[in-house]
Amino acid sequence: MQLQEFNQLYCDSLHQYKRRKTSTVKIGDLCMGSDYPIRVQSMTTTDTMDTAASVAQIKRMVEAGCELVRLTAPSINEAKNLENIKKQLLADGIRVPLVADIHFTPNAAEVAAKIVEKVRVNPGNYADKKKFDVIEYTDEAYQAELDRIREKFTPLVRICKEYGTAMRIGTNHGSLSDRIMSRYGDSPLGMVESAMEFLRICEDEGFHNIVLSMKSSNTQVMVEAYRLLVKTMNENNMHYPLHLGVTEAGDGDDGRIKSALGIGALLEDGIGDTIRVSLTEDPEFEVPVAQRLVKRYDNRSAHQPIVNATQPTTAWNPYNYGKRVSTEMSNIGGHNVPRVIADFSHAAEVTPELLKQVGHVYDAKLDKWHMTDLGCDFVYFGSHQPGFMLPNGVKGLVDAAIWNVVTDKVNFYPWFSAADFMNTNALSSTLNFVSVSSHALTDDILQKIKATAKTVLVISTENEHAMPDLRNVIFRLQQQHIDVPVVLHRSFETAVEEEFMLHASTDLGALLIDGMGDAVMLSAPSIKAERVNQIAFGILQAARARITKTEYISCPSCGRTLFDLQETTAMIRKQTDHLKGVKIAIMGCIVNGPGEMADADYGYVGSGVGKITLYRGKEVVKKGIEKETAVDELIELIKGDGLWIEK
Ligand code: SF4
Repeated sequence: MQLQEFNQLYCDSLHQYKRRKTSTVKIGDLCMGSDYPIRVQSMTTTDTMDTAASVAQIKRMVEAGCELVRLTAPSINEAKNLENIKKQLLADGIRVPLVADIHFTPNAAEVAAKIVEKVRVNPGNYADKKKFDVIEYTDEAYQAELDRIREKFTPLVRICKEYGTAMRIGTNHGSLSDRIMSRYGDSPLGMVESAMEFLRICEDEGFHNIVLSMKSSNTQVMVEAYRLLVKTMNENNMHYPLHLGVTEAGDGDDGRIKSALGIGALLEDGIGDTIRVSLTEDPEFEVPVAQRLVKRYDNRSAHQPIVNATQPTTAWNPYNYGKRVSTEMSNIGGHNVPRVIADFSHAAEVTPELLKQVGHVYDAKLDKWHMTDLGCDFVYFGSHQPGFMLPNGVKGLVDAAIWNVVTDKVNFYPWFSAADFMNTNALSSTLNFVSVSSHALTDDILQKIKATAKTVLVISTENEHAMPDLRNVIFRLQQQHIDVPVVLHRSFETAVEEEFMLHASTDLGALLIDGMGDAVMLSAPSIKAERVNQIAFGILQAARARITKTEYISCPSCGRTLFDLQETTAMIRKQTDHLKGVKIAIMGCIVNGPGEMADADYGYVGSGVGKITLYRGKEVVKKGIEKETAVDELIELIKGDGLWIEK
């Protein structure tokens, strides 16, 4: 069975870039959706009651290019103060549309909707308080709940309609209501249904000035939820614009990689009308990252056509993660974690020192190699012939002509061009890597790869529509029942590290979250090899394909934040960043924090001025402890659970 119909429900084409057609939403003077540019937005971190600080921060955000500014409105007081902020901004000549962020307080929403251009409501907590209860609902009881929500939500819808205020129905994976969780589980389907309940009420009221979002800190869940939302809306003849974001993405590399991966995966398929990159950094730093992500699509529709465009089979389900089935060969493919291949083919010479940059450190005194958590699995040396023994845990790849003269055929494998592969019988009995660019990958080559034992396909692309082009090669393999391991290879010329990081994260990460790829290889001669290697492992971690370090889920902070999030995140990170695989959430407030910690193992949550509450999963373990001792207590908690290791 072809998946053609199935997929076209979430995007027009898996091969030709095209923005999804949506309705147009007006947010003050700003139009959003369809052919309007993808809008960049961010959120203040100031106290909304502090007019001067909020105005000053908004000015910095607007200067950085922010087109829409969100502020938290936790109570009626903050909602009312939005008027002062707006007046001051107008007096200073700034007409940026403002958005009030609402959780738990319909009365604040109703006040704010008369003042600002847009309100954001979270269906998980607009009319519900989360108690983490699992309740069995009869159909009648469920309907009674929906009626209760309708009664609470309708007044806001009517105000928005009357005042021309836009609305975002913003579902968060971490804060689904107990009702949704009980019926649909903690799933993309639950997220979509949560939004649809609110959307149906809006439609019944004839209100359509709506944007939707499906955020999660888990990039797989986030992407699946957005796709499912588009499919569900299409089935219901609804075409609302989408706001994209990854929640609690963190800071530094992690935040950027995670955001580029989740947001980029959707932008590549033409989905998304506004984006917010949420970093645990000042909001003005979020804006250039978002701009870099969006800029890639300015002229994308003019890309080269994808050669041999193939529709996917049911082996790929865009709404439910499944790893592509591949044959295990040596340590690659099958159930192995995706491997990392470092590229030193462009190095002037190859020495043992070079390997230090990719996680293999030679100690000359002890004459021993050490491998760090970020030790790459293979190194491609191109036409170099290394004159030293390779460390344990890493294998060398050399061009076929060099491999023919290499004596150590246990630790070195051949790397073929397509032409060499088609004309050779000199093959390794362990592993052979065949590197082909997508446009040159003929069915003859594919069939020879299929027929040749121990062959790994390395796919690359020169098409600007890179991710879909590489994905198309996977579709071709699935159509032809070829299950060899696949290396996803991307090359970048840029010397701008952030650009490289964001683009590589989108191109490779978007495939990894769909279970495609048994290894990754990034070639970026203008970027330090150490950074390329860190970013490759970071992409695997953000896609949840290979965990090599502690994961931090930290909220971006807002007017509710009860401690210095950036400083605290840095402090916790410094002491725990060696705990491979442990997930720690650092959340600014107890109102939304616990609900949005997603699947963190531990939570460090602000619960009062100078007070922290510690969680193990969703369970409170220490309440209201002093912030001065809270990090030590967190470490004690991890130690008590047997998850601590010394640095
Ligand atoms: S969890 Fe963080 S970003 Fe979310 S409301 Fe609380 S302080 Fe604000």
